[in-house]
Amino acid sequence: MNKQTLSFQAEVKQILHLVTHSLYSNKEIFLREMISNASDACDKLRFEALNDASLYEDAPNLDVRVSFDAAAKTVTIVDNGIGLSSEEAVANLGTIAKSGTREFMAALQGDQKKDAQLIGQFGVGFYSGFIVADRITVESRRAGAKPEEGVRWSSEGAGEFEVEPITRAARGTSVTLHLRDGEEEFLSGWKLKSIIGKYSDHISLPILMQKEEWDATAQKQVTRDEWAPVNKAAALWARNKSEITTEQYNEFYKQLSYDSEPPLAYTHNRVEGRTEYTQLLYIPAKAPFDLWNRDKRGGVKLYVKRVFIMDDAEALMPVYLRFVKGVIDSADLPLNVSRELLQESRDVKAIREGSTKRVLSMLEALADSADAAEKAKYAAFWKDFGAVLKEGVGEDHANQERLAKLLRFASTHADEGVSFADYVSRMKEGQEAIYVITADTLAAAKSSPQLEIFRKKGIEVLLLVDRVDEWLLAHLYEFDGKPLQSVAKGAVDLGKLEDEAEKKHAEEAAAAFKPVLDRLKEALKDRAKDVRVTTRLVDSPACLVVEEGDMSGHLARLLKQAGQAAPKAQPILEVNAEHALVKRLDGNAHFDDLANILFDQALLAEGGQLDDPAAYVRRVNALLVS
Ligand code: ADP
Ligand code: MG
Repeated sequence: MNKQTLSFQAEVKQILHLVTHSLYSNKEIFLREMISNASDACDKLRFEALNDASLYEDAPNLDVRVSFDAAAKTVTIVDNGIGLSSEEAVANLGTIAKSGTREFMAALQGDQKKDAQLIGQFGVGFYSGFIVADRITVESRRAGAKPEEGVRWSSEGAGEFEVEPITRAARGTSVTLHLRDGEEEFLSGWKLKSIIGKYSDHISLPILMQKEEWDATAQKQVTRDEWAPVNKAAALWARNKSEITTEQYNEFYKQLSYDSEPPLAYTHNRVEGRTEYTQLLYIPAKAPFDLWNRDKRGGVKLYVKRVFIMDDAEALMPVYLRFVKGVIDSADLPLNVSRELLQESRDVKAIREGSTKRVLSMLEALADSADAAEKAKYAAFWKDFGAVLKEGVGEDHANQERLAKLLRFASTHADEGVSFADYVSRMKEGQEAIYVITADTLAAAKSSPQLEIFRKKGIEVLLLVDRVDEWLLAHLYEFDGKPLQSVAKGAVDLGKLEDEAEKKHAEEAAAAFKPVLDRLKEALKDRAKDVRVTTRLVDSPACLVVEEGDMSGHLARLLKQAGQAAPKAQPILEVNAEHALVKRLDGNAHFDDLANILFDQALLAEGGQLDDPAAYVRRVNALLVS
């Protein structure tokens, strides 16, 4: 095997181009990324060594060493972690397997994003080295491989990289950054130390640097061949709450999440009892770019006695809380816990339940806080994550009641922030149900004909306009003993809210209208299940409703958009016998046209699409000229 020159994968080239041409602020994060990779490599070694202790060879103490050479203008980061084989070097440093690349590029091409902070979030942190270096050399040897199976990888960060076999006695990896002109500020022990303090203090691995000393004869700082730790190297979550400042919690959060903003809230607890574990959980302030990807890696990392085990620990947090970031460290799980075991373990179940409850408590504390600033935090949380939390109502029956209390809606009373409790407190004397309507947009919901009678009577209706709301309604039937009632389903039943005189009037109107109704039913027999007179309309001539057990028109449309076949249930046309247009039906020469127009308009008003728009136009035009 000789030296080979290989070409970067196209995506890597694009990333490199962006990295070297667009990132100007926070350049120093390259060091965080290199240390983070070194720390990952040590975690991987520990994990593999659980089954094969010989991988430690004769160096069981894992650490990262950071040094610089002012004359050569290099900064070097060395770890004794898992290392890379030649194949791994080619694959892992030449291609990007992960899907985040496109999002990363999109984020960086946005206007304000010259900021390098983002880079690690997308699994391309290694390439941040090229922000400050015009050549990176990696030398590595995988744990368990022979010394002569080492590899040297080297690149100028343009289109190509070189790999060649080397002999490397020590296991692990060294990354040497040859700094660009103008980046000499990083050739200083003080500077490097301060960057490590800022970003990597909570890495639980010792980060070592050489001691420096003032040489009076040479009149300059000289480094001694003596390595000393520059970080605390104690896992933050294992330390005592009282010793940790908010800044430290926030900095740790940034490392976990790559979020540039501090978290909205966090909770840190040592749970004792049948299962013992420590949890440090954060709620972010802003939704990440991939919030809607239900399959992404979880944000909660599982450790067992400080040894990192895995981070796609869906077993630790329900999917609807996928935005939660943090660490769970168990004292009870076996170190060689497998994914399968995780799913079955009673301890893990207890951890998951306990952690879910903690997160809900955190949210409740914000939502119910008497402090306006805290309450505003909940409003902000809801804006970004509310739709995700709603998934929980169907997913997590055990906590359904608590979740229902956390829900916020728009209503005919206020455009946002209405809770069920608010709604219930404003219910009218004699009102038994919580009225809701679903629609695609707030504007469409607000102008639904079905709302008219409720407006007239001053009864509040919740306006549900998130895609997930139909799913919510399919799982939540009541709040506080009061049923949720869609105003677009079934016959309008205002129960005690309607007085006797009104009921009587409606019945009489319906009886008088019977002959017209029969003709309407006949004219629309292929389109409507039934036609009936309603009291729910005030200003509109007609609206569509579905029978109690049928799927709403809105849900049927959502399913269709999602490419799923929805069972087609015919709607019921309800007409307002008091409306001038409806009154004109009786004895009208264009009866059938009018009947179909009423139906089509009712469908359009609820956001539906006409099966035959041209026929609608023809009919309207015929009436316009008649
Ligand atoms: P990520 O860390 O999110 O996987 P990076 O771009 O930071 O993405 O690193 C890419 C890959 O390069 C890593 O997944 C790892 O396989 C490899 N790598 C980088 N640095 C090291 C190192 N110090 N030791 C072993 N492997 C490394
Ligand atoms: Mg990385």
